[in-house]
Amino acid sequence: MTKSLTRSTEIYDQACRLMPGGVNSPVRAFRSVGGSPLYFERAKGSLIWDVDGNEYIDYVASWGAIILGHADQKVNEAIQSAASRGTSFGAPHAGEVRLAEEVLARVPGLEKVRFVNSGTEATMAAMRLARAATGRNKIVKFAGNYHGAVDSLLAKAGSGVATFGLPDSAGVPAEATADTLIARYNDLESVRALLEANKELVAAVFVEPVAGNMGCIPPAPGFLDGLRRLCDTTGVLLVVDEVMTGFRVCRGGAIERFSVRPDLVCMGKVIGGGLPVGAYGGRADLMDLVAPVGPVYQAGTLSGNPLAMAAGCAALQQLTSDSYERLEASASRLHTGLEEACRMTGTAASVQRVGSMLSVYFTDHKVENFDNAQNTDKELFGRLFHGLLKRGVYLPPSALEAWFLTLSHHKVEIDRTVEAFADALKEAQ
Ligand SMILES: *Cc1c(COP(=O)(O)O)cnc(C)c1O
Repeated sequence: MTKSLTRSTEIYDQACRLMPGGVNSPVRAFRSVGGSPLYFERAKGSLIWDVDGNEYIDYVASWGAIILGHADQKVNEAIQSAASRGTSFGAPHAGEVRLAEEVLARVPGLEKVRFVNSGTEATMAAMRLARAATGRNKIVKFAGNYHGAVDSLLAKAGSGVATFGLPDSAGVPAEATADTLIARYNDLESVRALLEANKELVAAVFVEPVAGNMGCIPPAPGFLDGLRRLCDTTGVLLVVDEVMTGFRVCRGGAIERFSVRPDLVCMGKVIGGGLPVGAYGGRADLMDLVAPVGPVYQAGTLSGNPLAMAAGCAALQQLTSDSYERLEASASRLHTGLEEACRMTGTAASVQRVGSMLSVYFTDHKVENFDNAQNTDKELFGRLFHGLLKRGVYLPPSALEAWFLTLSHHKVEIDRTVEAFADALKEAQ
């Protein structure tokens, strides 16, 4: 069962000399589970292979961006065909219009969209737009919700509700988060209090409709509706960050699944079919404030990139209602299997899931907010992570990340995962 990781270790050593921590995005470096990261060489369907030739069932799925499975044939053909016609024009092309049509046809209430290159760019632009539209500066976000590496949104405020957000990162001036107010997830009262104390000062409430960046936390019944009502009565815009949930938890995202009416929506991950794409969109009157029609400047050299648009289109076109039923069925099989394994081993755990995103928290409580999520057994998760790695299952390397299924995770892979999970859990105890 012990795997050779010689090549990964060699590359990691070299990478550390060339790139900070040897990676291009921090969680990949395994810091929260210990050990050193694997370097990957190829992936197909639900499987991924490291440079030492070890095979893993992949539950990272590029942090949810991959939903059909890796190296999908139609997506690859679309990319190759687009590449043969030129990789970037920096000028309009019909591929952008095709993806815009696919997106608008799916997401209820979305009237216009602008493509960017990442989720971070999308939330940054949506925030600028919300501020311009309302003439207000303050933003409400939830502790534990992640909206990309944007200065003013990099605040989780461990100091709790109703305080000004303190920056989570060095290099973010306190002024950058001074207008960021932190509420508690699934707690409408905390939002009401902030809006009350900051009358006519708040431009927008940003929310992950299913929290996926502190593990998977479903919205409590009435939470999203309640946010809509609070926003309506205070003239605040509701910005639904669907970068993770969009086209994943339902054909039209969480907006469709939970019948939310957003003012603005941020998208990313699945929308690019595995290539770098983000988007923001919403009501036409708001989107028409964006340049060149309106005064809100936002631009990108590679925005609407032909390869990325083609990949996104080829991915979305294959996602039918039937796809989501299949995802639901396999995710539910995994969910039940994991719960059963926890019960059999006498492990206190809360397995939480919305559609094809889920996580296992080692705690005897349901996890409803960031405080709950932090209050779980992360050491046990670290041991489980390495036990699963040995057994050929690659989980997100952190207790506070969601796991993602693709349409290529079939019964065999799921049953193998559950078996490995049960063994690894026994060993980890
Ligand atoms: C991943 C993510 C982002 C950031 O997207 P990037 O493409 O990594 O910049 C923003 N919001 C949410 C909810 C995300 O999950």
